[in-house]
Amino acid sequence: MTISIHGLAVSRGIAIGRAVIVASSRVDVAHYFVQAEQVESEIERLRHARNAVAEEIVKVQHSLHDLGPNDAHPELTALLDVHLMLLQDEQLTSGVKHWIVDRHYNAEWALTTQLEVIARQFDEMEDPYLRERKADLEQVVERMLRFMRGVASPVAPGGEAKAVHDSSIEAPLVLIAHDLSPADMLQFKQSVFAGFVTDVGGKTSHTAIVARSMDIPAVVGARSSSQLIQQDDWVIIDGDAGVVLVDPSPILLAEYGFKQRQGEVERERLSRLKNTPAVTLDGQKIELLANIEQPEDAVAALKAGAVGVGLFRSEFLFMGRAGKLPDEEEQYHAYRRAVEGMQGLPVTIRTVDVGADKPLDRGASRAGEDHLNPALGLRAIRWSLAEPAMFLVQLRAILRAAAHGPVHLLIPMLAHASEIRQTLALVNRAREQLDNAGIAHRHVKLGAMIEVPAAALTIPLFLRYFDFLSVGTNDLIQYTLAIDRADEAVSHLYDPVHPAVLHLLASTIEQCRAKGKGVSVCGEMAGDVSLTRLLLGLGLRSFSMHPSQILAVKQQILRCDTTRLQTWAQSVLAAEDPAALMTD
Ligand code: PEP
Ligand code: MG
Repeated sequence: MTISIHGLAVSRGIAIGRAVIVASSRVDVAHYFVQAEQVESEIERLRHARNAVAEEIVKVQHSLHDLGPNDAHPELTALLDVHLMLLQDEQLTSGVKHWIVDRHYNAEWALTTQLEVIARQFDEMEDPYLRERKADLEQVVERMLRFMRGVASPVAPGGEAKAVHDSSIEAPLVLIAHDLSPADMLQFKQSVFAGFVTDVGGKTSHTAIVARSMDIPAVVGARSSSQLIQQDDWVIIDGDAGVVLVDPSPILLAEYGFKQRQGEVERERLSRLKNTPAVTLDGQKIELLANIEQPEDAVAALKAGAVGVGLFRSEFLFMGRAGKLPDEEEQYHAYRRAVEGMQGLPVTIRTVDVGADKPLDRGASRAGEDHLNPALGLRAIRWSLAEPAMFLVQLRAILRAAAHGPVHLLIPMLAHASEIRQTLALVNRAREQLDNAGIAHRHVKLGAMIEVPAAALTIPLFLRYFDFLSVGTNDLIQYTLAIDRADEAVSHLYDPVHPAVLHLLASTIEQCRAKGKGVSVCGEMAGDVSLTRLLLGLGLRSFSMHPSQILAVKQQILRCDTTRLQTWAQSVLAAEDPAALMTD
């Protein structure tokens, strides 16, 4: 019987595939397919890991035994026996083999998939003693994974988790997880999945943002989907409606297959607009920029016809590295790759914005991640100013990358004049340090993000110090409406057209234009086609969004007349319920 689960639509399109249920902590194992002739060597890799772990356990048992009967801990000895038994467990061994032989998963993926299958069975057990054995199984599997991590796979594609296309693998796979951190998502970006569903998450959570940047269908906030869906179930993800259909009937499969093909035709049609200038009917030139997370995303930005990068979220270079931050050389090379990748077009690099729903590491406790209200805590520029040595490393790396092409430097989450002054002093210090060391660097334009109401209400202060402003509507909405952007329980209150939000946005745009300073929007509003007319009507001429959204927004722009939209936008601004006027 088909069941449908409702969540939040975060990334458009339809995905149809088999479910792979993954605990978020296990997403960062490699996920790739092996060729038929590599199946045996993958099984051998597992056997090797299992034997090595068994040997380790036996060694510990011997050392306990050597301690003599009085010092040996009988519980520990018994526990090690359980671990040995679990290692040899038929269900684990044959299950893992099944995923490798029948589905061509690489060894690590097969092992974590089978772990999920067995872990669920443990969860359903009545006997609390047996239920607790789940933790032992997880430990045993973790030891095997650790062992495999130390031994390079002979078949992993370039050491990365990428898809190897194998004609024997027919069904696409979709990933189902309780939660995925943005760092998990980065792994996921290079993997084989055609779509994903999470139990938690809001529309503009960073997990959703990365999904959008990957341009694959995704639904978040689909509560308990990871419990209701079973490993290998057929699943349809409707990323337009925010619906997940489990075990769909043949009629539904045919219907969604048709929708999927329609989506492909629409994309094909839009791709013809790539080289068309973004100019409105009344001749207004509109700048369409790309938001990127990694230097390699510059390729997609150019392919979509972006005229520059409006937001490079540099924090993705800092995440998922077990606390070891990238040094100046590594950052310089990453920024330089983005700059060179954009082939002379400007790249706006935002300084690190970790904290809140973008922890440096899963379970780590830096950057305010373990505080009660992380979104109000030590995130973004606050963290950078609290760690000036780290910040100077990043500033020097960015200034050096500017020697290879036009770079703009963007600072997130400023609210106080004192923060502005401290930041600019550090930028100057970084310049001096490079000058003193005789290292090449170049001038960068300086920009501030307007994403805290306090900043939006003191625009003249920002215009005194900065060359341009960029409105981060994701956070501006979160902080104006007091809605946690990552919490699906309040996502119905997250309203981009709330009159308070629109007033802050409109007055920011107006004041920048009056002073002749550049202003863009780089939050998710910029890539939402249902808001393009309104933003144009409010005077916005520069939009920054995921490359996958650029062509659809351009199509809207080509149909708009800004002189007409201006009057209408003023009526939306004055309305008690602006959403009601949005379809006019
Ligand atoms: C924003 O807040 O709108 C923004 C672009 O920054 P981020 O989504 O990375 O917080
Ligand atoms: Mg922000």
